[in-house]
Amino acid sequence: MKMLLKDSVYDVVVVGAGPGGSMASYYASKNGAKTLLIEKSQEIGEPVRCAEAVPKLDEFNISPSKEFVKSYIKGGYLIAPNGKRIEVKGGKTEGYVVERKIFDKYLAMRSAKVGTKIAVKSRVVGLHHDGNLFNVKVSHLGEEYTVKAKVVIVADGVESSVAEMAGLKSKKNPKEVCSCAEYEMTNVKLLDNSMMEFYFGDICPKGYAWIFPKGDTANVGLGVISNNKKAIDYLNEFIEHPILEGRLKNATPVEFKCGGAPVGGPIKKTVDDGIMVVGDAAGQISPISGGGIYLAMSCGSIAGEVAGRSIKYGDYSKEVLMEYENRWKEKYYNILMNELKYRRILQKFNEKELNALADAMDNMLDEIDVKKIAYRAVKRAPSLLKYFKDII
Ligand SMILES: Cc1cc2nc3c(=O)[nH]c(=O)nc-3n(C[C@H](O)[C@H](O)[C@H](O)COP(=O)(O)OP(=O)(O)OC[C@H]3O[C@@H](n4cnc5c(N)ncnc54)[C@H](O)[C@@H]3O)c2cc1C
Repeated sequence: MKMLLKDSVYDVVVVGAGPGGSMASYYASKNGAKTLLIEKSQEIGEPVRCAEAVPKLDEFNISPSKEFVKSYIKGGYLIAPNGKRIEVKGGKTEGYVVERKIFDKYLAMRSAKVGTKIAVKSRVVGLHHDGNLFNVKVSHLGEEYTVKAKVVIVADGVESSVAEMAGLKSKKNPKEVCSCAEYEMTNVKLLDNSMMEFYFGDICPKGYAWIFPKGDTANVGLGVISNNKKAIDYLNEFIEHPILEGRLKNATPVEFKCGGAPVGGPIKKTVDDGIMVVGDAAGQISPISGGGIYLAMSCGSIAGEVAGRSIKYGDYSKEVLMEYENRWKEKYYNILMNELKYRRILQKFNEKELNALADAMDNMLDEIDVKKIAYRAVKRAPSLLKYFKDII
């Protein structure tokens, strides 16, 4: 591995081997760039900080028959504090619960197959542009190396620090980072082994709790924005909550996971000369669901493709790399900003209002039409108009 880091010059260096970084490196290599993927963990995919649900992956040519798929998902139940269940099926709710330890490794290995070199247990600790190339400082097993790169793609996740080293503001407002805690449990009685369960209310203020089927196990967790208690305390209360009707009585954890989800919307600037930021580091994550795997993969793919092409042209200036920002924004910016607006509204609801909202919804939906739901909710409970006046 030293050989990968010692006095090396790469076309593209990607920081972080999560879904965003692996997809970025895959497309950079596919487009002919000499690419190095750098991961600080000793094992790609570890530690897992995720409930592991992904929508269908057809657009990335990834077959669902792979060994990382643990459950096939048809949809989910949205469950109000009063227990009313709304079934949402089809469309984007269809997908899989995966084993991320295998999934993330699979994505990195797919990238290696098209030429990407990978350095694990290698942490990027410095980034400096010398006017021509980036000097990427890497700490590996107690030694420091400097790798040179024409283009750097930063995909270092929610706690991103590397983009900041190059002057791009990727620090997240802590008030808009969801604290998540999760047990992977066995002996869980599910409502349905192909449906995800989402619980709202005081169980989990300004967030939601979930139970996702995962083959022989289930991911039972929650994400909160709260100063009152720690996420783990909410989780321990959730698993004994009467709304679960004792379904977790015989369940026991086989793994504990925790982490943050940056649900405050995308960062302002994701591109500069020779550098792009993708995935959680760029705030490319759903402000409502906290789902970011698909977005990191999609935006990472665009960044990798643009990087590869910029190397071919011999121009990796901000102007050329802006194609990345323009393309991801065209696809996702409005969606993310609308979701942010809706999440901020939903956070204000008390349990009574959440129940009124649920009562205004059909028991079965094949898509969530926010305007229609808001209109019906206000008709039934006019007091909700104060929240929805900008939507209807
Ligand atoms: C509890 C929880 C549950 C979640 N559940 C879901 C879910 O069910 N579905 C979903 O879609 N999303 C979920 N998410 C969000 C999802 O995990 C992320 O959006 C997704 O992993 C983002 O991918 P990424 O590649 O941007 O970053 P990450 O997957 O975080 O990868 C970043 C990588 O960079 C590495 N790294 C960081 N700093 C450095 C450095 N200095 N040098 C080298 N390497 C570095 C890290 O080790 C890591 O491997 C959840 C998040 C949490 C916290």
